[in-house]
Amino acid sequence: MNRLKFVKSMRQKIVFKSISVLILFLEISISNAQVISKAEPPNWWTGMENPQLQIMLYGYNIAAYELSLSNDKLLQSVQKTENPNYLFLNLEIPKNISPQTISIQVKENGELIESFPYELKERTKNRTQHLGFDQSDVIYLLMPDRFANGDISNDTMDELLEKADRTNPDGRHGGDIQGIINHLDYLDKLGVTTLWINPLLENNQQKYTYHGYAITDFYNIDARFGNNAKYVELVNKAHQKDLKVVMDMVLNHCGINHWWMDDLPSEDWIHQFDEYTQSNFRSTVLTDPYASSEDIMRQQKGWFNRNMPDLNQQNPLVATYFIQNSIWWIEYAGIDGIRLDTQPYADKDMIARWAQEIRNQYPDFTILGESWLQKIPITAYWQENSKNFDGYSSNIPVITDFPMHYAITQTFNEEQTWTDGIAKLYYILAQDFVYNNPANTLVFLDNHDVTRIFSSLNQSMEKLKMALAFQLTTRGIPSILYGTELLMEGYEHEAHGKMRKDFTGGWPDDEKNGFTAKGRTDAQNEIYNYLQHLLNWRKSKEVIHTGKLTHFVPENNVYVYFRHDADETVMIILNNNENYQTIQTERFKEIMQGYRTGKEIISQTEINNLNKIHIPKKSAMIIELKQ
Ligand code: CA
Repeated sequence: MNRLKFVKSMRQKIVFKSISVLILFLEISISNAQVISKAEPPNWWTGMENPQLQIMLYGYNIAAYELSLSNDKLLQSVQKTENPNYLFLNLEIPKNISPQTISIQVKENGELIESFPYELKERTKNRTQHLGFDQSDVIYLLMPDRFANGDISNDTMDELLEKADRTNPDGRHGGDIQGIINHLDYLDKLGVTTLWINPLLENNQQKYTYHGYAITDFYNIDARFGNNAKYVELVNKAHQKDLKVVMDMVLNHCGINHWWMDDLPSEDWIHQFDEYTQSNFRSTVLTDPYASSEDIMRQQKGWFNRNMPDLNQQNPLVATYFIQNSIWWIEYAGIDGIRLDTQPYADKDMIARWAQEIRNQYPDFTILGESWLQKIPITAYWQENSKNFDGYSSNIPVITDFPMHYAITQTFNEEQTWTDGIAKLYYILAQDFVYNNPANTLVFLDNHDVTRIFSSLNQSMEKLKMALAFQLTTRGIPSILYGTELLMEGYEHEAHGKMRKDFTGGWPDDEKNGFTAKGRTDAQNEIYNYLQHLLNWRKSKEVIHTGKLTHFVPENNVYVYFRHDADETVMIILNNNENYQTIQTERFKEIMQGYRTGKEIISQTEINNLNKIHIPKKSAMIIELKQ
């Protein structure tokens, strides 16, 4: 790229980003003095565990200049790539250094031509202490474009390509961070404790930008959602209500319109092919003893789709870029956890290093990896400290339990056989020995990528109640998709955009408001109340958070299990039959001994005789046992 082309391309980006009179000023400043167009990370902090910092600098022919720092002792080395428009500065920042703005000095023939200010900020107090999340939490997963529109002025932004169009299921609908802030009370009262929000970073692509997974700027919140300060406001306001915030991060790919795609730092920054090559999406190949190299290559290096180039995490500069980017967001915004997108698609050694470096810096921080695999042993491989054949440990503590998800969507629709019907849940849990830590699995009925649970369960309220009762009392960390409480529907085979419908009442012109009892239908209120009741009960039930799980082999399509610790015992019964059942409890005496009565939590009724328990068809009972 020659200088004229470079200036033109940067000017185009700036024209997008600013309006009116500023343009002229910026054009002049770019074409004249300024060499450094961009520095990432945009700032750093003093007093970090790891003293190393690598700053990526971008500017026309920047490699031809002499670079130094005003605080010269900090600069260890300057690294070049094959593209002269990039330089990487390796700094070492002593722990005891005071916060300061250093300047990156650019010299030409010994003469100083630019002083670029770079801030080493003071860290926010207690940033290393995070609550993280665990089995005591319930996650609420929400897609920000589809949850609530709190600011209609940002629905369409001049500088961003895709404009709002609520009539298009795959278009942008206008939901934003302000919309989430406006409904924190609703979420708190519902009884969830943790918000997992699909990616909020800039997706300046032509279309399909609403889901957020085609990131074009890893350091900025998409202007249609708000801005970086607004995100910090959300995190702070959530914390005031004891709600935690989990950031959704993508390391495997970026958006095709990412600013570096016009002028890559190096050819191997992304995986490139003579002809478009897509991932085979078969993460199984990574643990398969018979896998071909071709299949492994396609899984690892193939693109997610034409709009999402595959990043090469084996390039150490790419690896450091993303490790620092994640640490930057934790330090900047004070988030409580990360959900890592497409865990097995990125280079697994880089991922392990990424997770380790984050946890060295923030020991109490929780990372959840999306390990979308169909079977249990190949899922367990991706959890930290699993007993793996090759000694691999991902350093990722929590993984998504897709095998459990598939079982939940089938079990309540099936007739009982040796392994089907309610026995399916039993068999999933009976294989927990393969996990390093089965408590650290995400238990979900559905998520943003799959058919909504109410649709999977053929619109049965009975089945949905059973599924929720199971999800909220078995082992693991439950995650609930926004709109479950409104009986939202959607099928994966239709279109993703249709599955991710707007939350009724999230838009100023919505006729009904699902955030209020008055705005919900009777059926919606029935499920909302059921969920709210269980969530708020679960919140203070330590026995569900940390108690042991003991279950009994299902009989007659009825599944009985207990959560118990030194202080308390809770009995859960799932009757998957189309008729009423009477349960003889003699078989459960090893747990029930000494208990005489109980309180059923869902119906709030007392049970005076525990010898025989009557349970209605297709229903769940959650009984706190009493002596
Ligand atoms: Ca908006």
